Amino acid sequence: MPVCLTDLFFSGDTTRQRIKFSDDRVCKSHLLNCCPHDVLSGTRMDLGECLKVHDLALRADYEIASKDQDFFFELDAMDHLQSFIADCDRRTEVAKKRLAETQEEISAEVAAKAERVHELNEEIGKLLAKVEQLGADGNVEESQKVMDEVEKARVKKREAEEVYRNSMPASSFQQQKLRVCEVCSAYLGLHDNDRRLADHFGGKLHLGFIEIREKLEELRSSPQRSNQDAAGAIPPLRRRSLQRIEFLASCPEGGKTWVWPDLQL
Ligand SMILES: [Zn+2]
Ligand SMILES: [Zn+2]
Repeated sequence: MPVCLTDLFFSGDTTRQRIKFSDDRVCKSHLLNCCPHDVLSGTRMDLGECLKVHDLALRADYEIASKDQDFFFELDAMDHLQSFIADCDRRTEVAKKRLAETQEEISAEVAAKAERVHELNEEIGKLLAKVEQLGADGNVEESQKVMDEVEKARVKKREAEEVYRNSMPASSFQQQKLRVCEVCSAYLGLHDNDRRLADHFGGKLHLGFIEIREKLEELRSSPQRSNQDAAGAIPPLRRRSLQRIEFLASCPEGGKTWVWPDLQL
């Protein structure tokens, strides 16, 4: 009886063992340990399961094989992260626009004063998250040093709040003024307390976005990428993908209405 090869290779539990890391169905971002589905899992923005295959055994295979050979998967991962971050940045713009429409209008001068409070909030939130991390690592001395910085920032914040408060009627000051976090697109409140600030800036969602953004920068500037490009070693399909990414990056709308650059020729 003839045996169907596809059935043989991709049936039941054997699928994962049979598939190779270079297979199109495998998530290249996962191989490079930066798939947003992994990074944001368990956060408020959990993306659910990735449409492509995630498998640690394949990542291990890839890590070994990539020591001797370039697979150019950085370009796939860059494409993936680029479009993910572009989506996030679009959401941030929409949220900002909505805030501008719904929040009471304030003069540029007052807005600058509110901005100063937001900046100090951000500083305090980041420092407190650092204190918690150092505490968890048992680094008491360093954590105390950072706590001193927090105190200084708190003094500055009280002053900035005072300046802001004096620039408007008391009723307006009571209203929560929101801002959108440029990193993770969550809302931040001007009057958020220290706990909330630390939870945001030390939280898995915000830190996950930092990780993804840093990884994207790293991929963009990877020496491997420029070497390959200079040597003309990138296969045509990958080259096209790279052109598209560069085109996306240069597009004023963040690539919202992109077209393949090589189709315009
Ligand atoms: Zn993935
Ligand atoms: Zn954030």
